[in-house]
Amino acid sequence: MKALVKEKPGPGLSLLDIDVPQIERPDDVQFRVAYCAICVGEMKVYDWNEWAAGDSTLQLPTVLGHEVSGVVMAVGSEVTRFQPGDRIVVDPLLHCGHCYMCRKGLTNMCLNREIYGKRRGAFAEYAVLPERALAKMPDKLSLKEGTLLENLGIAVHAVEIEPHDPGDVAVVIGCGPIGIMAGQALEAYGCNVVMTDLAEPRINKAREIIGGVVIDVREQDPVAVVKGMTDGRGADFVIEAGATQSAFDQALALVRNCGTVVTIGTFGQPVTFNPFFALTRRQIRLQSIMGRTWETWRRLVQLVESDKIALKPFISHILPLEDYERGFELVRSSETMKVLLKP
Ligand SMILES: [Zn+2]
Repeated sequence: MKALVKEKPGPGLSLLDIDVPQIERPDDVQFRVAYCAICVGEMKVYDWNEWAAGDSTLQLPTVLGHEVSGVVMAVGSEVTRFQPGDRIVVDPLLHCGHCYMCRKGLTNMCLNREIYGKRRGAFAEYAVLPERALAKMPDKLSLKEGTLLENLGIAVHAVEIEPHDPGDVAVVIGCGPIGIMAGQALEAYGCNVVMTDLAEPRINKAREIIGGVVIDVREQDPVAVVKGMTDGRGADFVIEAGATQSAFDQALALVRNCGTVVTIGTFGQPVTFNPFFALTRRQIRLQSIMGRTWETWRRLVQLVESDKIALKPFISHILPLEDYERGFELVRSSETMKVLLKP
């Protein structure tokens, strides 16, 4: 079968012919890949920058790809939840199911965690994973939209990290796909949503989807807007999805005293701040999240099934796997939302 492989350190990927993975363990599920979306992190592996070179979880050679939807082809003897023909998506934080963190329900923090796409992946015609890594696709979604559930899971996990009161002012910095999905989830939780960015295509996309305020930071100061909305208090909740020093500084400037900042940006560079002035004096909670738990899956499926989340507008390109180079180039553009590769 054809598969997109990172063979060795250095820029680029290779389209290779490799063996179809087979069921080896009783809990394995073999599926045909329908679509697999390109992730920003994979862009860094494609380029082979410092971020990728320093990623100790990456074991080369590996098939890349983890934002995947597919159809079950075959199941091992002990698989109970899936049968051939089922439409599935993958939770790419592959968990062991028996360590301390897993037994606490925090499968995303599994002590034996394998991140899918770091030593095996789904930019290929077929893949095999243990049953516990798979979720059934909501009937409502197409297989194309299904690839976006991984991103939606991050967005919902960032939102659900603390309870929200109706009318709370929540800011999302960065109008990429995960940022806008977080905006939709916050609206579903009853928040007044403010979104910011400085790239026009992303701002337009956010305005198309989000009912709240979308600020072009080149034209308007978000701090002034949010202070105006909150009687000078600042935002109750801020999600930082911009991954720059200025986005991080802005998050701290926007949040109210005792408010929460959740940072989910994929930072390519370190940021600096003085925790005493930035956090301590204002009793601010700085939080991060990784992936999603199975509790998040329940919530995101409910959000999809109750029509609170639109996923279709995020699919900007669908290309055959062979056109991967064009796909990865498209991901660099702020006009691109999600690029799906079809094996
Ligand atoms: Zn575990």
